[in-house]
Amino acid sequence: MLTIKNLINGQSVEPIAGNYLDNINPATGEVYARIPDSDERDVDAATAAANAAFPAWSTTPKEKRSAALLKLSSLIEKNLDKLALAETNDQGKPLWLSKSVDIPRAVSNFHFYATAALHTHTEAHAMEQTAINYTLRTPIGVAGCISPWNLPLYLFTWKIAPALAAGCTVVAKPSEITPMTAYILGELSIEAGFPPGVLNIVHGLGPKVGMSIVSHPQIPAISFTGGTKTGEIISATAGPMFKKLSLELGGKNPTIVFADADFDKTVQTAVRSAFSNQGEICLCGSRLLIERSIYEKFKDAFVQEVKKLKVGDPLVEENWLGAIASKPHFEKILSYIDLAKQEGGQLLCGGNTVTPSGRCANGYFIEPTVFENLPFDCRTNQEEIFGPVVTLQPFDTEEEVLQYANSTRYGLACSLWTSDLSRAHRLANQLQFGIVWINCWLLRDLRTPFGGMKGSGVGREGGFEALNFFTEERNVCIRI
Ligand code: NDP
Repeated sequence: MLTIKNLINGQSVEPIAGNYLDNINPATGEVYARIPDSDERDVDAATAAANAAFPAWSTTPKEKRSAALLKLSSLIEKNLDKLALAETNDQGKPLWLSKSVDIPRAVSNFHFYATAALHTHTEAHAMEQTAINYTLRTPIGVAGCISPWNLPLYLFTWKIAPALAAGCTVVAKPSEITPMTAYILGELSIEAGFPPGVLNIVHGLGPKVGMSIVSHPQIPAISFTGGTKTGEIISATAGPMFKKLSLELGGKNPTIVFADADFDKTVQTAVRSAFSNQGEICLCGSRLLIERSIYEKFKDAFVQEVKKLKVGDPLVEENWLGAIASKPHFEKILSYIDLAKQEGGQLLCGGNTVTPSGRCANGYFIEPTVFENLPFDCRTNQEEIFGPVVTLQPFDTEEEVLQYANSTRYGLACSLWTSDLSRAHRLANQLQFGIVWINCWLLRDLRTPFGGMKGSGVGREGGFEALNFFTEERNVCIRI
């Protein structure tokens, strides 16, 4: 059985305590690898290595740092098949999705930040005859990067790439549920020639390894993606230490459909937005709000499309949904299906577990599930389920749909469908979400600010925002 190791100071090392956790393939329910159950001593060692590497890495010319990142990007691309299979075995998502989205995006993340770092600029503020101010941005130090299990390599590299490009050294922790591609990335970083200590990866549990990173006095910046509850715990620890914090948290995203929308395109995209990656994308649209005049027609077409989606072995090309990432999460989703029924929800399709024959008989599979007849303020419509469960609700007016859409504690993303550009613009201004997609979903330009409002997070990733996050900004004022 494969044993994953930590990457500390350019070496693959065992956890100091010698303890390991099981790594389970959620499509088969089988343990197939061991993961370090690291603790604060491993984080201390990684932080010491990152601190020692910082002076040289932060002063390396950015062209050289860029070249190292580009090399790593090419190595990820070269190993796409291996990484995609590892991602699918770890996470449960269909292999076609790992190949077409997750791993290509990791390639792009490194490529994007390798080149973005060459195009940074700083501002100057002239005070006429008196003085000139200019802004200095210098790498902040050792960056702590913590990422979740839903898009493992995609989100891990979305943090690491800007941190390294900005000149920081990194101590990173992937989710212990999906550590494999982070482990392979560590090996590739050695092959790419990163100096020892520049990138350190410590595997293990959130409350142990994650918290040791968050509370470490020599890590001044924390970039975290995960649940809102964990974000609260991280804020409570890092806030009083005055660390820089970027928090990308949960969502309960609405898909808003007006009667004048392109019907077929809206149905197709709403299905994709609801069930891609088994609904385990923070940006998935899980609340469909539909103008009453087309509600019945839309419902019928939507449910008909959902019933066509095949669930099963993620290695089989025709399956559109794979396995749920872990047993606890599988059970959590099933408990929400029960809750929706208790709250009076009418089940339109799905609602059951799936037991494929053959190698996936013990995996964690759930049918794509659609409910209607639930009020906007019930728990099913307010809490993040993060699985293949969505609700349909009719609305009559713009005011009503705004109230429904904005009613949750979250504010990550919204997808709005209409052919009335004035309405789209009017509502985009009033929808409390960090991202508003009009007549599309998950259309991403890496230069744009990415992040949520309200309980969906603090700060923005993407573009120069992420590079700036990993720097300390100072004003220099010269009297003339
Ligand atoms: P968690 O918050 O449980 O975990 C995220 C990461 O934090 C994991 O690596 C986890 O480790 C670690 N962690 C857990 N507890 C602590 C702690 N006390 N201190 C430090 N680190 C800790 O989220 P999930 O992994 O369950 O991911 C799903 C969530 O992520 C959903 O809410 C989803 O919406 C959100 N998400 C947000 C995105 C965004 O961009 N806004 C994008 C993708 C997901 P371990 O796994 O070992 O517990």
